[in-house]
Amino acid sequence: MGTSYTHPCLPAPLFFPKSPNRQLTSSSSSPPTHYLSLRCLFCFHSSFQSHTEPSPTPTTNNYNHLIQSLCKQGNLSHAIKLLPHEVNPTQRTYESLILACTRLNAKSFATTIDCRIAEDGFYHDPFLCTKLINMYSHFSSIDDARNVFDRTPEKTIFVWNALLKTLVMAEVGDDALSLFREMVRNGVTLDSFSYSFALKACLASSLPATVLLQQIHGHVIRVGFDSRVHVATTLVDCYAKVGKFMSARKVFDEMPYRNVVSWSAMIACYTKNGRHFNALEIFREMNMTRDPETAPNSVTMVSVLQACAGLAALNQGKAVHGYVLRHGLNTIASVMNALIALYIKCGSLDLGHRIFDTMICVVPRNVISWNSMISGYGIHGFGKESIRIFEEMISAGISPSPITFVGLLGACSHGGLIQEGRRLFNSMQKEHNLIPQSEHYACMVDLLGRAGQLDEAAKIIEEMDIEPGQTVWGSLLGACRIHGNIELAEKACSHLFELEPWNAGNYILLADIYAEAKLCEDVSRVKKLLEERGLNKLQGCSWIEVKKKLHSFVSVDELNPQIEQVHALLVELVNQAKKIGYVPNTKLVLYDLEQEEKEKIVLGHSEKLALAFGLINSEKVDVIRITKNLRLCEDCHYLTKFISMYTNREILVRDVNRFHHFRDGLCSCMDYW
Ligand SMILES: [Zn+2]
Ligand SMILES: [Zn+2]
Repeated sequence: MGTSYTHPCLPAPLFFPKSPNRQLTSSSSSPPTHYLSLRCLFCFHSSFQSHTEPSPTPTTNNYNHLIQSLCKQGNLSHAIKLLPHEVNPTQRTYESLILACTRLNAKSFATTIDCRIAEDGFYHDPFLCTKLINMYSHFSSIDDARNVFDRTPEKTIFVWNALLKTLVMAEVGDDALSLFREMVRNGVTLDSFSYSFALKACLASSLPATVLLQQIHGHVIRVGFDSRVHVATTLVDCYAKVGKFMSARKVFDEMPYRNVVSWSAMIACYTKNGRHFNALEIFREMNMTRDPETAPNSVTMVSVLQACAGLAALNQGKAVHGYVLRHGLNTIASVMNALIALYIKCGSLDLGHRIFDTMICVVPRNVISWNSMISGYGIHGFGKESIRIFEEMISAGISPSPITFVGLLGACSHGGLIQEGRRLFNSMQKEHNLIPQSEHYACMVDLLGRAGQLDEAAKIIEEMDIEPGQTVWGSLLGACRIHGNIELAEKACSHLFELEPWNAGNYILLADIYAEAKLCEDVSRVKKLLEERGLNKLQGCSWIEVKKKLHSFVSVDELNPQIEQVHALLVELVNQAKKIGYVPNTKLVLYDLEQEEKEKIVLGHSEKLALAFGLINSEKVDVIRITKNLRLCEDCHYLTKFISMYTNREILVRDVNRFHHFRDGLCSCMDYW
């Protein structure tokens, strides 16, 4: 505490809570206050600083008023020095001190204020206790928040909720849920905030979140709070975070009233769960309500832009960009960052860079803006440019985040920049004080593995300080697939089958490796394992935007009305390619079929269908932009190169790993992906 005064109110009165309106009472009973002008304040300051005791004794209200003014001005230390001189500090004065302490991040004053409140007999004031708990929550001092809570005799719903919120914010979900249970047991009348916090607590619990969410959802329905917009929106958000988008949609559909937050939560739900089409559909519906209350805001637009980026829907994205400009949302960093990511993911590095450049005049660029550029150049295969931007970022005084290095090391990997990758990886800890995480090791394994240095990649895994996760083993398996290393592939799979037994992709990769080595028995063994575990290969899907409309294709698609035309074009293109020596690469077809059948399967790959559809339906000058949900196969890659030359078209394909820019029979990846 450090104060050696004797306060007239000490020891604290234990029995009668002070009137919460004490300030009002005292001001009405005291003689008219001398209203302190700003000049008086400064005069008083100087007199206070030069003497230990202020000579003119301002009235009670003057000190209260003065302390509150100092708090408002951000002069907390002076306000606290004055506190001993106030005979009768009001609730309002203490509230000002708490708020200023929080706002100024002045943690060192927190205990002083708390002690003064307790000594002054305000410790039983639920209003101030709520504020104190919020203050401690801000400083992440959970124990102190809990102490305030425990000593508060009269716990209003605000006091309970304040502690509940503190525990949720600190991500101690189990503690938060046990507090919630205590609230229910004690018969506390819960409000919508209590339920919202409890729902959020489920996400940070050690128990399965979905089951907990469903339980609290049941509770919510029983008390009829499911019709409250705040609670229902939190439900949508929480279900989205555990991947239950159908449950989220059900809650959303049943909401009697929706505000902009509810709509945004539903759009974000679909975007987060990769349902980009649905996200855009909800956005359209939202616009159709024409309700000013539900006008999209920056949060909405970030999700919408992410959905457009996910689909590589450049024209739709541009339309959304127009909306952003018309509504002045281009001054918000998160929206601008989403725009950069949109253009880059749609294959337009130039437009992405332009937004990045113009941003400097509108809103400060943050680490996310830089990260987008670094990873953007990386996935387009411009590793060196990516490193250059990173260096520019460091010179601009922006500290890199762990994500920066994921982008940067990925860029080195796609560009085959081994030495640079090694150097940057080593600099993480030495120069930037960032400890490499699993994903950074995965990038290094990928970098070395792709370049054929599989033994060194395996050595990195052996020497890791942390347990290698699935991303690390997955990178090794991917590299084994490129270089046909059976031994290491089997080792990687022994871990992967345990870490993610549900991931069919790993089984397929291993089977591919066996198939390439013509180990038929091993291929059938893996296929049997796949069947036994009831796993299905993720179906290949490609999509293309033609005349502002998105068209999606799955392998051997029969639904598209133009499918016969598409097939005819593909057969013709294949015949032309065969004339210059193209042989369909069917070794990855794992079924025991005749060569002709195998060729048919390969020809039916969704990416080829989308490409032929694009050729038929677009203008000759248009760049064809295709997105694929899996890695591009060798056969599609080879044939697309040929088609770019034969038809003299520019073709851009974004697969799950990177961009392939096909022109004049070559690809920007230099066949290294
Ligand atoms: Zn293919
Ligand atoms: Zn390529």
